[in-house]
Amino acid sequence: MKTLYQDLIALIPEECVSQVDLDIESHSIDKWHASAKPDVVVFAKSTKQVAVVLSYANEHKIPVYTRGAGVGYVAGCVPLRGGIALSVASMNQIIEVNPEDGCVVVQPGVITGELQEAARNIGWYYPPDPASLKECSIGGNIATNAGGPRCLKYGVTKQYVLGLEVVTASGEIMRVGGRCHKNKTGFDLCSLICGSEGMLGVVTEATLRIIPHPETRAMLGVSFKDFPAAARAVQAILDAGVLPSALEITDAFTLAAARDYLGQDSLPPGDAYLMVEIDGRVQSVKQELEGLKDLLFGIGALDINDAPDEAACEQIWQLRRDFSYSLKHTGLTKLNEDIVVPRSKLVELVEFARGLQDETEIPVACFGHAGDGNIHTNLMVEDYADPETKQRADAALNQLFSWVLSNGGAITGEHGVGLAKKPWIKQALGEVNYAMHQSIKQAMDPNNILNPGKFLDDDGVYW
Ligand SMILES: Cc1cc2nc3c(=O)[nH]c(=O)nc-3n(C[C@H](O)[C@H](O)[C@H](O)COP(=O)(O)OP(=O)(O)OC[C@H]3O[C@@H](n4cnc5c(N)ncnc54)[C@H](O)[C@@H]3O)c2cc1C
Repeated sequence: MKTLYQDLIALIPEECVSQVDLDIESHSIDKWHASAKPDVVVFAKSTKQVAVVLSYANEHKIPVYTRGAGVGYVAGCVPLRGGIALSVASMNQIIEVNPEDGCVVVQPGVITGELQEAARNIGWYYPPDPASLKECSIGGNIATNAGGPRCLKYGVTKQYVLGLEVVTASGEIMRVGGRCHKNKTGFDLCSLICGSEGMLGVVTEATLRIIPHPETRAMLGVSFKDFPAAARAVQAILDAGVLPSALEITDAFTLAAARDYLGQDSLPPGDAYLMVEIDGRVQSVKQELEGLKDLLFGIGALDINDAPDEAACEQIWQLRRDFSYSLKHTGLTKLNEDIVVPRSKLVELVEFARGLQDETEIPVACFGHAGDGNIHTNLMVEDYADPETKQRADAALNQLFSWVLSNGGAITGEHGVGLAKKPWIKQALGEVNYAMHQSIKQAMDPNNILNPGKFLDDDGVYW
């Protein structure tokens, strides 16, 4: 009897299939804690190859785990049941940049930052900006419906997907949507595929909306006495009729870690910090910036760092990136939970996080996208691989997610469910919604070959 490897090299070129240890190892993980080895890795070079592999896998009921850049945060691409790790990273061509139609056509392996750059070069803009944009792929962004700071004003990945080419579980090539900016033909399968975490089909090409690039941007770095004062400022900015392109908030724990790592003078005094970015025409940005400064000082800002040009903005964003490094510098492992709450609950969330920290003795750092309530709540643990620590951390996560859900929030705003949040998915979706998910999965992947073992498999297998 032939092996999986032998079968595959009879179907696609031999150089596209690997079972060498290095490839197997590097395709067994993402940026979460789980790890599981595939039996083979397929490096697909074309839609046709993806279709051939899926048709074969479906016939033989072999699990297929699609992988973009592998920098997901929830073990979405981890091959939990072995089988095929299907990498589309080499399908990385920007096929078309078309300002007349306001769209780009790309293969799934294109790195998000490179697409942004290509659009920027002709004065256009692809706004979704996950912090991982220099590494992650468009296919991965679509499959997780990735977001980022600028999604407050511009929306998440899904809002930019006009059309997709998708290979179905049985290996058929399906086109959904197109290049029209409005399209109400049939069900919105484009949106269904967005965020489907590699469980409903493999995206092999995407037509994405681009918009004219804003002329300029400017920022304010604003310190406040405490978190409630900064949260009040978030609402005051929006109430004043200003829609910032980003509105990021940071709590006292994170600031303390940053001062420890970057030096006490790296940040002005205060136990909360707000970063406000606005963009648009030069004159209006200038005016808005002045108006915002008056507003913010009027409601208790302690200090405002003015960043009127690109270079100064970059310094503030660097500080934001440094918050992550500062937390790493504590020597603890960051369990980054991308929970979302209705914006009115920001203060209660951080108060809850402080209470959780006191009760569990697990430090909790909160910072993130204040404008849309997506506050990354980071449990800082010693060693998540240690069973006792893991048990304590999971118990704390239980409390966090229960609180979030009972306050109208969501357990993930950006990263997805994957394996990381599988234990909480039923609670989060509710019985009827979970069953509907399973029915959709059954209709689109009856043999359950696409990403099995993840959040739709009620198998009691967690990590
Ligand atoms: C430092 C860091 C910062 C991050 N910041 C953010 C952030 O700000 N916002 C955010 O949203 N996320 C963020 N993430 C998470 C991650 O980068 C995103 O989830 C990203 O979209 C993953 O892309 P990827 O190409 O690495 O996907 P992978 O990890 O390879 O896969 C992710 C999921 O998508 C599926 N998939 C991948 N490609 C395809 C395809 N072509 N067709 C069908 N399914 C596919 C996989 O099966 C898997 O389920 C961050 C991660 C890191 C490490």
